[in-house]
Amino acid sequence: MYSVFVILFGNSNSFAQTTDSLFYKTYDTIYIASEPDYPPYCFVDNKGKADGFAVELFKASADAIGVNTKIKIGLWNVIKQELAEGKIDALPLVGKTPEREKIFDFTIPYLSLHGAVFKRKGEYSLNSLDDLKQKQILVMRGDNAEEFLLRNNISIRVVTTNTFEEAFIKLANGEGDAILTQRVIGLNLIKELELKNIEASKLQVPEFRQDFCFAVQKGDNQLLSRINEGLSIVIANNTYNEIHTKWFGPTLNPKLSSRDIIRIAVIIIVPIVIVVALFFIFFLRREVRRRTKQLSQEVIERRQIEAKAIQERNKAQQYLDIAGVMLLVLDNKGIVQLINPKGCETLGFTKNEIIGKYWHTTFLPEDEKAKVHEVEQKVYNGHIEDVRYFENKIITKSGEERLVAWKNAVLTNDQGEITGTLSSGEDITDQKNNELELIEAKEKAEESDFLKTSFLQNMNHEIRTPMNSIMGFASLLPDEDDKTLINSYSDIIVKNSEQLVHIIDDIVLFSRLQNKQMPLQVRQFDLLNLLNEVKNSFDIPEYQKGVELLIEGNADASLYVNSDHEKVWQVFTNLISNAFKYTQRGEISIGAINRETDYLCFVKETGIGIPEDEIEQIFERFYRASNVNKGKIGGTGLGLSIVCELVQLLGGTIWVESEVGKGCTFNFILPL
Ligand code: ADP
Repeated sequence: MYSVFVILFGNSNSFAQTTDSLFYKTYDTIYIASEPDYPPYCFVDNKGKADGFAVELFKASADAIGVNTKIKIGLWNVIKQELAEGKIDALPLVGKTPEREKIFDFTIPYLSLHGAVFKRKGEYSLNSLDDLKQKQILVMRGDNAEEFLLRNNISIRVVTTNTFEEAFIKLANGEGDAILTQRVIGLNLIKELELKNIEASKLQVPEFRQDFCFAVQKGDNQLLSRINEGLSIVIANNTYNEIHTKWFGPTLNPKLSSRDIIRIAVIIIVPIVIVVALFFIFFLRREVRRRTKQLSQEVIERRQIEAKAIQERNKAQQYLDIAGVMLLVLDNKGIVQLINPKGCETLGFTKNEIIGKYWHTTFLPEDEKAKVHEVEQKVYNGHIEDVRYFENKIITKSGEERLVAWKNAVLTNDQGEITGTLSSGEDITDQKNNELELIEAKEKAEESDFLKTSFLQNMNHEIRTPMNSIMGFASLLPDEDDKTLINSYSDIIVKNSEQLVHIIDDIVLFSRLQNKQMPLQVRQFDLLNLLNEVKNSFDIPEYQKGVELLIEGNADASLYVNSDHEKVWQVFTNLISNAFKYTQRGEISIGAINRETDYLCFVKETGIGIPEDEIEQIFERFYRASNVNKGKIGGTGLGLSIVCELVQLLGGTIWVESEVGKGCTFNFILPL
């Protein structure tokens, strides 16, 4: 197995070239040689071929420059000699030593290996190279380890073997004390040969660091530069790394024992952490001081801003509190967000009872909701101008409705979207009522004016007519001799005078009633007697034109009342006079019904009646209904006003029921 064998490849002539012909060589093929047992750099595989990291790297470098490689295998000492003699072109794995530089030229180093001393486990302790002085050291013949031992005079007992494999087997079998070789080569051989009793000592041999190169014969500069070029190419194009990974696996960080980790931590990491921590503490403290100062400043500024804002808000609140109008803020759902004291006072609710409530459902009367909803829609559709001012009724806690005049504005957010409304409202209920009263008073004044005018026109007619008769017939009297005619003229003059007196009486009576100059003279009397007396007073020819006057009810009963006899008489007389005046046929019935607490008195007839829409107005002074033939039927429009005033003075009320063409019933109540 360890026999020396030589395999020749390619043109054997090239193995016989001399240094004289070096300049003239054309390298289509480079002939090299490999050791059989320098794993994993140079060795023979199980098919008998040269293999290993250095062999493959050389082939790749030659490939890179387009040159073939032929490899033969030979013992290190032999092949070394062959290169020196130019029998081969190059060697793939040669450690660069001063001795070898005399006979070889080297490429750039492609690998550095560190040496180690291997020994049998537990035999002796090795603390320095001096401890090797007396030891028998095994090395491969011609290996740079041998050169190193001799050069540095490490031991006087150096024993050489053909291969390191042989050296390790010998050491394992108890021959020699130690082996000096590259650490990686030794460990590889221990593993391959399964040598359980051999170990790498802890002794470091930094001086035995080997830079491995390709070597050519001394002076073969042409080949040296070519393979240097090839080596550079494979290093640059990553082929070197791929080959390295193939043979040595990916470059992994060595696994550290937990003790190593603790040591590293204590020696390196802990101080670094402490320094970094100190730096951070220093930096952080500085930063904290800086930020604290900055924050304090910000806090002061913020407090100032807040104080100002509170001041402004209080001021605004004061304005709101003393504002004489309602101030109301609704959000865009119609919910009350703010209301001032005036608003609370108007509504009669407390602030807490109002805030958060839906304005429409809580504070508006039913008939206003649709109108306000419309206003709201306009606001949210951007038509605020249409509804900037409007009036609507609100409903207070007591259920009272108040009219409010609003001025509206919209509230918007930063994006310009409408978020709610701000409204100021003034309670104008009293103002509106005053206006209405004024209008009413004005209308009344105008009406009164109109009535006065028409009264004067009436008076003109009513007074002038009898006056003309009186004057006309009075002027005839002096020249008239006929007694019958004289009597007739006198009658006409007397009747017209009576009519005049009657008119003047009415005016005076009305005036006295108006001026409250009619004191009540109450006494007890029988109402039935009064009715009979009044009926008898109409029992004269003037009123006997086919219309009968009757008393309704039990003629024998007594109807006692405590009242003003004269005024009750006056009321009945006036109503009966009108009844005769406006009744052409049929009958007039009068009466009084005892109703326990009062008397219901009436004057009923079958006359022309009163239009329905004028029934209320006929009691107003100077008013005369439209169906009265004013030209033919005389009147002042004062009679019913007088009746009304008298009934009220007597503590009663009066009303009329009527249908045009069918007659009227005048009712009035007299308290007992
Ligand atoms: P007048 O002098 O015009 O009768 P009154 O004050 O007595 O004035 O009555 C007012 C008006 O009421 C009358 O002009 C008439 O239009 C109406 N009126 C009063 N009594 C009657 C009645 N019995 N039937 C129909 N109309 C009546």
